[in-house]
Amino acid sequence: MARGTIKIDENRCKGCELCTSVCPKDLIHMAEYFSARGYRPAMLVDPDGQCTGCLLCSTICPDVAITVYRELPAKAKAVMA
Ligand code: SF4
Ligand code: SF4
Repeated sequence: MARGTIKIDENRCKGCELCTSVCPKDLIHMAEYFSARGYRPAMLVDPDGQCTGCLLCSTICPDVAITVYRELPAKAKAVMA
């Protein structure tokens, strides 16, 4: 499975929580602190590297606050017949 990660721009996030509802791995949570804009920003909590880079969170974000990075799958090794 493809591996990915995200970066959330706190200066764009308005704390609407939409991204937390769509992550199939439940990896996005709201921070306990407030951003400079006065919102609790979304944050990635992914200690085990479960993000697949599926793009659902960045697609639903109305404020274009999420950038997704995706690791390209390594080329399969050729197998000798
Ligand atoms: S890219 Fe997919 S798996 Fe990764 S945090 Fe966003 S919704 Fe979750
Ligand atoms: S969907 Fe976007 S604006 Fe809403 S909480 Fe997530 S990152 Fe913030």
